[in-house]
This record gives sequence, C-alpha cells and structure tokens, in this order.
Amino acid sequence: MARSPRMSSSRRLLARLRDIMAGGGRVQERLDNIVRAIANDLVAEVCSVYILRTGDVLELFANVGLLPEALHHTRLNMGEGLIGIIAARARSVALSDAQSHPAFAYRPETGEEIYHSLAGVPIIRTGRVIGVLAVQNRTRRQYTGEEIETLETIAMVTAEMIATSEVAGDDDRAALESVALLPVTIDGVRLSGGLAMGRAVRHERRLRIEKLVAENPDAEKRRLEKALAEMYGAIDQMLEADDVAQGGEHRDILEAYRMFAEDAGWLSRIDEAIGSGLTAEAAVEKVRNDTRARFRSQTDPYLRERLHDFDDLAHRLLQHLVGHDVKPNTESLPDDIILIARNMGPAELLDYDRTKLKGLVLEEGSATTHVAIVAKAFDIPVVGRVADALDATENLDRIVVDGDNAQVHIRPTEEVLQVYAAALSARAVKIAAYASLRNEPALSLDGIRISLNINAGLLADLQDIGDSGADGVGLYRTEIPFMARSDFPDVDQQADIYGRVFDLAGDLPVVFRTLDVGGDKSLPYWRSDEGENPALGWRAVRVALDRPSLMRHQMRALIRAAAGRPLTIMFPMITEVAEFEAARALLDLELELAKTRNRKLPEVLRVGTMLEVPALAFQLKSLLARADFISVGSNDLFQFLFASDRGSPRLADRYDTLAPSALSFLGSLVEQCDAAGKPISLCGEIAGRPLEAMVLVGLGFRSLSMTPSSLGPVKAMIRSLAVGELASYIKALGTGPEHSLRENLRAFALDHGVAV
Ligand code: PEP
Ligand code: MG
Repeated sequence: MARSPRMSSSRRLLARLRDIMAGGGRVQERLDNIVRAIANDLVAEVCSVYILRTGDVLELFANVGLLPEALHHTRLNMGEGLIGIIAARARSVALSDAQSHPAFAYRPETGEEIYHSLAGVPIIRTGRVIGVLAVQNRTRRQYTGEEIETLETIAMVTAEMIATSEVAGDDDRAALESVALLPVTIDGVRLSGGLAMGRAVRHERRLRIEKLVAENPDAEKRRLEKALAEMYGAIDQMLEADDVAQGGEHRDILEAYRMFAEDAGWLSRIDEAIGSGLTAEAAVEKVRNDTRARFRSQTDPYLRERLHDFDDLAHRLLQHLVGHDVKPNTESLPDDIILIARNMGPAELLDYDRTKLKGLVLEEGSATTHVAIVAKAFDIPVVGRVADALDATENLDRIVVDGDNAQVHIRPTEEVLQVYAAALSARAVKIAAYASLRNEPALSLDGIRISLNINAGLLADLQDIGDSGADGVGLYRTEIPFMARSDFPDVDQQADIYGRVFDLAGDLPVVFRTLDVGGDKSLPYWRSDEGENPALGWRAVRVALDRPSLMRHQMRALIRAAAGRPLTIMFPMITEVAEFEAARALLDLELELAKTRNRKLPEVLRVGTMLEVPALAFQLKSLLARADFISVGSNDLFQFLFASDRGSPRLADRYDTLAPSALSFLGSLVEQCDAAGKPISLCGEIAGRPLEAMVLVGLGFRSLSMTPSSLGPVKAMIRSLAVGELASYIKALGTGPEHSLRENLRAFALDHGVAV
C-alpha cells in the first residue's frame, strides 16, 4: 500500500525523536535537537518551543532560526501574540501571513520580521497547555492540515519528555525543576481543618503508556480494532444485565454511551493519530488530551457531559489496550502524599498508606462527603471544590494544604513554604499542650462540666478513645463501615463490627446512629433514587422505614452486639414524631424477637433521635415525651434552616452559623429539652470549632460531639470560659437584625481570655 508523504514524514520525525530521547542528555539539549529535526523535516526556517513558566509566561526555550539572543529572553504572556493565543485557546494555528494578523506581537530581539508564515500547536499534557511548538517560513507558506497533524503529534511526545522524569534522566531533574510551572493558590471549601505539606500524588484513572512511537502502524490499527471489539462487548454486557435490560433512564444513558463509543469522528481521529506514527494507546491518549483541552472552555453542561463520556470511553479503551488499571503502588509513592482527586470514595482513600497520607485536595466534594469524613477521622486536612486542581498539578509538585483557610498552594515559593513550615511547628507545640489536658476535666471556670464526645465511623477512630479524654462516642455513623464494603453486610457481619465498637469503647457510652444513606452518602452497591434534591430526598430513616428489613437487621445486629451491655440508638433525619414512633416500633419488634430467642437484652436501652429537620422542632414536646434524648445534627439542620445547600461554594459564606436566627433556634431547643428534663447534645461540625462550641455552651448545651482532633482545642476553650458571663452576654445580644453575631462573640472571647 502506498504511503502518503505526510505519513512517512511524521513517522520519520517520530523515529528521529525516539533516537533523540533515547540518546539521553539534558532537556535543553534534547529540545534543541528536536527543533532542529522538525525544522529539517518540515523544511521550516524557524522552529521554536515555548514553555509555560512562572507567572503564566511563555518563554522561548529552544529554537533554530531566530536570533540567538532571543533564547530564554523572549517571553509572551498567555493570550499575547500568536503564540500566547495558541496557548490560551489550546488550539493550533496556521497562517500564511502571520504578520498581518492583528494579534501578531513583534519582538525585535528575535529578528522574525523576515518570516511571514507561522504554524503553531499547543503542547498539551493531561489536558493542560504547558507550551507551544511553532514553525515559521520566509515565504507565505500554506501549511497543510497534515503538517499541523504532524506538529501536534510531535508536540504530544515533546510534552511527555518535558513533563516526565522517566524520559528525562536523573541529571535532568534540576532542569525540569527550572521548567517548573508557576506557583498557584486556589481557594476551595474547608472539608477538614489542619495544615499539611507534601508532594502531590494525582489520584486519577490514568493508565501508564509506556510506548508512544509505533514500529508498525498496521499492527497498531489491529490492536485498536481488537481493543474496540472488547470494549463494545463489555458495554453490551452491561446493557444486557438484568437491572439494565428492563429499561429506565440508566439504560438510556448507557445506550447513548454505547453510541458515542462508535462515534465516527472520535474513531477517525484515533485512526489518524496512529497513521501519524503513534502506538494505539498513545493515539487514544492524544485524542483524549485534545478533547479535554478543547472542551475546557466549554460551558454548555450537555457538551461537558459528552466530554466526560469521551474521556471515560478513552479510559476504558486504554484499559483494554494496556491491559490493566494502575492501582496505587504505595512503595513508589513519596512519604508525604498530598492526594489530588476529582472526587473519590472512602474506600479508595483507604487504598493509600495512612502513614504517608498527609492531605487531600478534591475538585468536588462537600463537608459531609464521606471521603472527607474519613480523612477527617485520620486527621488529614481536606480542601474541597478546588477548581481544576488536577490540571494545575503534576505528580510530586510541592503542595501546602491549608484546611483551616480552605486554600491550596501548588508549587509555593520558598518563602511561602517557610511560613507554613513555621506554622506547622507552632501547631505541633499547641497539640502537645492539648495533650497535656487529656486527663483534665472539661470544666469551665465557673465549675460547669461539659461532656465532650467524639464522632466516629471507622474502628480506627476508636482505637485511642481510652487515652483521648473523651467521655464517649456521641455519634457512631453506622453507614461508614457499610461504605467501605462492596456489598451489604449481613446481620452477622454487622454484629461483628458493632461488637468491636463496644469492645474498643470499653466502659464509655456509644450512640449508634442507624443507617444514614442517600443524599450525598451513597453506597457503591446501593442504587438510591435521588431525584433532583438528594439532600431532601429518599434518605436516612425514610429509606429505613420503607425498607424495614434493612432497619430490623441493623437493630438485630446491635442488640446481638450489645450482648447485655447498655445500648443507645438514635435515628437520623426524623422529620415528625410519627416517624420516630415507627422506627421505635421496629426496634421493639426486634427486642421481642431477641427475647423469644433467649438472647441477652441490653441492660439499659436509650432511644433518641437526631434533630436535623426544622419541622421536628415544632413537635418537640410530644417528641420529648417519647425520646430519651436528642442530638442536633447541625450540618443538615442549617442547610434546611437557611434553605442553603452547604455543598454550594457560592453559598458557603452567605449565611452564618452564628446568625441570630440560628442561635435563637438552638437556644429554644435547649430550653425545651431542659424543661422536659431530657438531655440534648449537638454532633454537627460546629461542635468541634472552639468559637462555635463556646457559643453552644453559652446557649446551654452541656454535651457536644466532635471529630477527635477537636477535643483538645474545645477542652482548652471550656477551661478558660466563665459560662455564666457568656450566657448573659448572649441573652443581651438578643435577636437583632444582624447578619451574624460572630464578631461580637469573638470580641467577647478575646476580652475574656477565652481560648478560641
Ligand atoms: C449532621 O447532619 O449534623 C450530622 C451530624 O450528621 P451527618 O453529618 O452524618 O449528616
Ligand atoms: Mg445529618
């Protein structure tokens, strides 16, 4: 079969490139050789590589044809000149008369006034532009589409060389660092406080492509066909599965997905990339990178969804081509991992070595995303909603995760690193001071004892409870062990988990909350019908009441695990007293059953409810006549009280938890519980923040439950507080028109020496 000249040119160039890379040497030398080879092959008088440097500046990094003094001196901002436009838009450009283009930016040091035509392509890696490759000619040359394709292919291989240390030898590490990208600080939302410094590890479904340049394109096409056939087969199987075959939205989605897998445009782009000399996997990756970069500016949600489909398909196809998925290989990872992910399940987090994991950065996520909760249990700072975090980082980039201020610093400058290093050591001193309070009571200056408990979900949370100084487990989230599994645990398995919780807690009381799934808490094996508003949807006790066997199995397991020990149960998301009664009735059935089976019944049984739906507060009197205690779930309560999705970054700071309305609501709950003689506690995130915890105590809460790492700071706060004075102050503040009382309350703390 006759080959087109483009094919042989591209392939010849790629073969030359392979030799250049195999030849070793420094990055600079190799880039010099590359631009020379391209200029030769494409008969261009100029060939340049610009690399994106600190400050979003494109620096002329390698060149033939321009004046030598331009090298490393010519710099263009993103969007400036034709090179800047190619980078900013992530699009190739070919112009026969570049100088007459309105964006042309003349740089006298280059001597480029004699070159009329220009063709440039972005150098893209993992969907992000890291430079530009361009050729220029004196004549008004019309560059062909094939030549542009060739340049794009070379750019992809060059990108790998620039960015991967595998291609560059050890000697090149220093050079690569000097090609370092700019420092970036991105704001997100605080999902777990704390501070960590370390090296980036991108958690992404990225497959390692070992071989980029193909020896035999026909063989690569056959590999592609085989992989495609396998992939179609696998998707067809998905469609034939019982729960899909019967139809429904999910089947429609899968069918559309299957259709995209045969998209002629997508397939021909892959085919062309193979034709230009890449291996099948490199071709798929190239097309994937192109699509990602071009869709980046896409705001249409439908098209973004399609991008995601193609991205996912490319990943699947790569799996079939490369043959395996890359699981985190802990040994090869740095000792101070800062994990960067779009989002992840809690079990995926657990794949990483806990001792190495220092911080987590998510592009998505909300405060109650379970991976964030798990990370919090490990005392790992987490910042969520960090836009484009994956695109902004390379593996092993230095990262600072400032969970307290919801900021992520990527490749920070030496000065910034020093500031944070100092903050970290100051923090260590504080932690040591909190540790010395461990055996001291949480007693206020005016002698009021506050019960401080921990929120737990993993057995790991309970490992050190005896030494933590906690009074008990105020919230044991039973869904967390469910989430880390691949299927529903049966009664025996659940009883085993709960039994271990009892054993670890020893004499300390544990409040077991029944399953709270749905909404943002999904189980990998549980398909809940979430609707448009999952937080307001079929979740928690609503699911349990509609699927009573689920709830009964859990209660059976709890009774069995208690084995005669005192048992405390609470229900999530109770909205009305009737629901509490219905849930309680299921428990009574299980107690009856246990009795008939001669099982040991709990020596003491306490049954309470979370108060996280405002409606329940208006039935408090009848609720308190039936429930043994209530625990305020402020995470959910506030989002319902303010009608404000707390996962939404736009609303994150809109309403304050220390707003007069919130304080008045909480205060009224305490008053009613006190009047009824029923204990009330609070187990939302605010219980673990010293200023908020101070206010809760001032409002009359005598029991709080929080993430274990908050115990020290909250205890220190209580031991420096005169509760009576604060209570009067809060009363005097009243419920005025203010947006928030935070500043007044902070001023109180400062004036009275309260450690917040
Ligand atoms: C809450 O809503 O405040 C709470 C403690 O429960 P969760 O965070 O598990 O929803
Ligand atoms: Mg809740």
